[in-house]
Amino acid sequence: MRTVVIATNNAHKADEIASALAVEGWEFATLAQAGLASDPEEDAGTFEGNARIKAQAAWEAARAAGMRCAVLADDSGLEVDALGGEPGVYSARYAGPEADDAANNAKLLAALEAVPDAERTARFACTLVMLDEEGAETVARGTVEGRIGREPRGAEGFGYDPLFRPDAFADGRTLAEVPQAEKAAVSHRGNALRALGEALGL
Ligand code: IMP
Repeated sequence: MRTVVIATNNAHKADEIASALAVEGWEFATLAQAGLASDPEEDAGTFEGNARIKAQAAWEAARAAGMRCAVLADDSGLEVDALGGEPGVYSARYAGPEADDAANNAKLLAALEAVPDAERTARFACTLVMLDEEGAETVARGTVEGRIGREPRGAEGFGYDPLFRPDAFADGRTLAEVPQAEKAAVSHRGNALRALGEALGL
């Protein structure tokens, strides 16, 4: 059995990754489940750079704890065209360093108040960095195109899901209005995980 530590402190992300990447012979552990503490500063300025920082920090922490495992890190965010690509790599802390999802969503709605529906285009982007037991790296990316709604809708998912209406949903539902499997079928993370699977020959 191969242990893959998911280098995140975000339980929603870990759940989406472990559910979508069900590979026989692999068992997933979150940082907490592996008994590892890792929360490095994400200051690379790109999704890939930040994912690599998280992957390497978790890999080192596992090594220091005497664990032999692979590590998988996700860095992701929302790029809103009318805001020049913001909040981007700052998505988690858009409304401040301690901001929660509701505060970030409220700030985004306020920033887009005067923006007409046709110009509310956006995408989620996700970069995955996997380090195997020897430290060899595999990178995979995914995006999903959509629009930002005018009020939060739905209680599934996390982050900006209640505001994000993927183009792939013809009926205008947000990512927070569908079960996790339906989100994974179109989402940036789902697409990145499928690309990772291909890159690894799974
Ligand atoms: P990270 O943990 O530094 O990668 O921050 C990612 C942030 O981007 C999250 O805190 C959310 O605000 C946003 N985000 C990333 N992926 C998703 C998603 O699948 N749904 C909604 N928001 C997301």
